[in-house]
Order: sequence, then structure tokens, then C-alpha cells
Amino acid sequence: MKSLPFFCRGKVIRGFGRGSKQLAIPTANFPDSVVEHLPADISTGIYFGWACVGGSDVHKMVMSIGWNPYYKNTKKSMEAHIIHTFKEDFYGETLSVAMVGYIRPERGFDSLGSLITAIRSDIEEAKKRLDLHEYSELREDNFFTTETSQIMNGH
Ligand code: ADP
Ligand code: MG
Repeated sequence: MKSLPFFCRGKVIRGFGRGSKQLAIPTANFPDSVVEHLPADISTGIYFGWACVGGSDVHKMVMSIGWNPYYKNTKKSMEAHIIHTFKEDFYGETLSVAMVGYIRPERGFDSLGSLITAIRSDIEEAKKRLDLHEYSELREDNFFTTETSQIMNGH
């Protein structure tokens, strides 16, 4: 995918309570304005990369880009599980992410158990691959330290 690494940011919105938090895998959802600006070659599926909430630390993350059943699959959704334990929810805060690599296409699961197993294995793969130099260096990208100025300039 030519567009990787892909950097974007936006305010965390409420999802549609698909219960990811109950599975201990909460996903911070991006608003449509961000999803609509995805380059055409970023297909649906699972990605890995780096994420930062507000101006704080940069953490590993996995991102799911998929068709949103709530809108009868006419709209894409983009949601990130950050591999970090947060003390509180951060709805409304600015989430900055660098999507750096692709793990697998979107797929359906016949049980909740197999979905959870797949997500756990995505998380393990993301952790491993992000330690490789070509990906780990992106954690230090200026993108993560220029938040305020970028937002003020409307980027
Ligand atoms: P929703 O359907 O509203 O997206 P989720 O069950 O997916 O609900 O929970 C997502 C929310 O959980 C995020 O918007 C964020 O405020 C919070 N959250 C707490 N920890 C994390 C984390 N490690 N990764 C992503 N979101 C988290
Ligand atoms: Mg969510």
C-alpha cells in the first residue's frame, strides 16, 4: 500500500456500543470527517501503528477499518485499540495515529470466541512488528509532537 505510513488525527467519537469494552478491547472511533479522507488504496482490514491521545505518550495500536453495520454497511468506520491501560475514557479528545502496516483483511467470525482470538493475535502481531526498526522509528515522528500547531492550521 503506497499510502502507508498514513498519519491522521481527529476527535474521538462515541461508537455504537458493539461491546468492545466488555470484551476488554475498547476501540476509540474516528469521526466520518477522518474516515472520508482515507486514501483510496487504504482498504478495509486490520492495521498496526502508533497512537497518541491529546499530547501525551505514544503507544502501540491496532486499527480496524471496516464497513459499519449501523449504517447498513454504506459507511466505513475506523477504530483504534490502543495497547495501553488508560485510567479514564477519552471521548472528545484528539487522537493522533500513524498507521504503518497492514495485518489482514476484514473478515466475519462465526462466534465471539473466534473474534476475540483473532483480535488477540492481531495485537500480538502488532506488538512484534512495531519493534522492528522500520516501524519503531515512526514513534518519534514529528507528527506526534506538533499537534497543537497542526490543529490550529487545520491539518
Ligand atoms: P464505543 O462504541 O463508544 O467506541 P468502546 O467499547 O469501543 O465504545 O470503548 C471505546 C472508548 O473506550 C474510547 O472512546 C476511549 O474513550 C475508551 N478507551 C479506554 N481505553 C482504551 C484503549 N486502550 N483503546 C481505545 N479506547 C480506549
Ligand atoms: Mg469503539
